[in-house]
Amino acid sequence: MSDEASADESETASVIVVGGGPAGLSAALFTAKNGLETTVFDTDGTWMHKAHLFNYLGIGSVGGSEFMATARQQVDDLGAERRQGEEVTGLERGGDGFVVETDDGSYEAEYVVLATGANRDLAEELGCAFTDDDIVDVGVEMETSVEDAYATGAMVRAEEWQAAIAVGDGAAAALNILSKVRGERFHDFDVPADAERVFGDVVAE
Ligand SMILES: Cc1cc2nc3c(=O)[nH]c(=O)nc-3n(C[C@H](O)[C@H](O)[C@H](O)COP(=O)(O)OP(=O)(O)OC[C@H]3O[C@@H](n4cnc5c(N)ncnc54)[C@H](O)[C@@H]3O)c2cc1C
Repeated sequence: MSDEASADESETASVIVVGGGPAGLSAALFTAKNGLETTVFDTDGTWMHKAHLFNYLGIGSVGGSEFMATARQQVDDLGAERRQGEEVTGLERGGDGFVVETDDGSYEAEYVVLATGANRDLAEELGCAFTDDDIVDVGVEMETSVEDAYATGAMVRAEEWQAAIAVGDGAAAALNILSKVRGERFHDFDVPADAERVFGDVVAE
């Protein structure tokens, strides 16, 4: 892909994330931060509201709902549109990629990231392949058997469910989308100078 083509696509590429738990918000964070039009639909049934984390690397102790509040603020600040309380009731291929239906309307995007926890109904509706364990079949890049459709978090694991794993799944899906959009392998690396530029005086020495 030429630089011009990849720049054009990255300006217009869009991502719909279905599910705003740790997996979905992690995917949204990376795609929004890197300029993709990102919309998250979420019905707030995340298991995190029942959890208290002592096992999330880098965080000593945090309530699950508190973790979610910070995560939501973070993706909002980075430019994702979060349609909280809007349930996705249908998903199919259409337009330039995918069409999702809610009671409020239809929405289109080139890429879709499914992050609906242990509920796999939309993946089944879209025709994604499942494994013998009855989970959505993905590789390490989290892409399903349906091109440009990704599945992340609890729906791709037969238990072994942890917030840190879900966050990693979402990040992996987003990076793969960004690599496709940019036409080359993509990393989201920041350095201290970036932090100083963004946060100025509040960055610790
Ligand atoms: C009691 C309990 C304690 C736990 N303790 C820990 C712990 O200590 N440490 C740890 O790491 N993990 C813990 N977990 C597990 C952790 O909560 C999960 O691993 C994590 O929440 C999975 O993230 P996810 O994004 O895959 O799914 P979820 O967090 O379940 O998020 C899925 C989201 O998708 C939304 N959704 C579903 N369908 C739709 C739809 N059609 N349209 C729009 N939105 C939709 C749901 O409402 C939900 O908000 C605990 C879980 C429970 C139940």
